[in-house]
Amino acid sequence: KLASREFRDEPTVIAVNGTKIGGKQLPVIAGPCAVESTEQIVTIARLVQKAGASFIRGGAFKPRTGPYSFQGYGEEALKMLKAAKDETGLGIVTEVMTPHEVELVGEYTDMFQLGTRNMTNFYLLREVGRAGKPVILKRGMSATIEEWLLAAEYILAEGNPDVILCERGIRTFETHTRNTLDLNAVPVIHELSHLPIVVDPSHGTGIRSLVCDMTKASVAAGADGLLLEVHHDPDHSMTGDGAQSLFPDQFETLMRELQPIAIAV
Ligand code: PEP
Ligand code: MN
Repeated sequence: KLASREFRDEPTVIAVNGTKIGGKQLPVIAGPCAVESTEQIVTIARLVQKAGASFIRGGAFKPRTGPYSFQGYGEEALKMLKAAKDETGLGIVTEVMTPHEVELVGEYTDMFQLGTRNMTNFYLLREVGRAGKPVILKRGMSATIEEWLLAAEYILAEGNPDVILCERGIRTFETHTRNTLDLNAVPVIHELSHLPIVVDPSHGTGIRSLVCDMTKASVAAGADGLLLEVHHDPDHSMTGDGAQSLFPDQFETLMRELQPIAIAV
């Protein structure tokens, strides 16, 4: 299999917008759950860049659990992300949900995000496999590691070698946290695959007060990067994910505290 260590032993390093993912750097993708306005995304982009992030994230097309919830501003939001990139130089990460939107999203984003709900959308996997841009493939909330690697295989098999896995928590019997962050996945993926793996402790816990500790644990476990939700005014965010979004000053402190851990691993 193309994702396996047997196929390729050297870790895959993916260069995007001047940042290397899978090497010694610890690239951080940060931003709100959803893009809400130009002012919001540019404000957050400036803050996270100052703290050391390499990518601004934010949903334009949102996979909401309920059909009446805010679904994202679509192409308008992509333009707002572009404004944030023009302002800061940060790369863009945003989700694509359907095969027919791959071309449009690809005109703006530096990396596609495939969300947990779409890990087994095989048509979408194939389409981003042909799109010529790196793909962050989030683990399905009930997917085994083997199923996750097979989903990655769909993208690789179309000729796109630039796949980044993202552990974002799985469903277990535990209800205290939104998901159970499976940090076992980090060393397991490193044993089985040459692909980089980043961790998303925001969705992995769903609770702001837990995010910093689990981010440090992710780095200690060997994560190749991080995906973190940050909002300058999380109590007024347009999705429920404000509850898991870090305040900018928390993010700044966290970024400083990660450095010695990253050096030690
Ligand atoms: C997100 O990153 O905001 C998101 C919807 O993530 P997930 O697909 O992991 O739920
Ligand atoms: Mn979110």
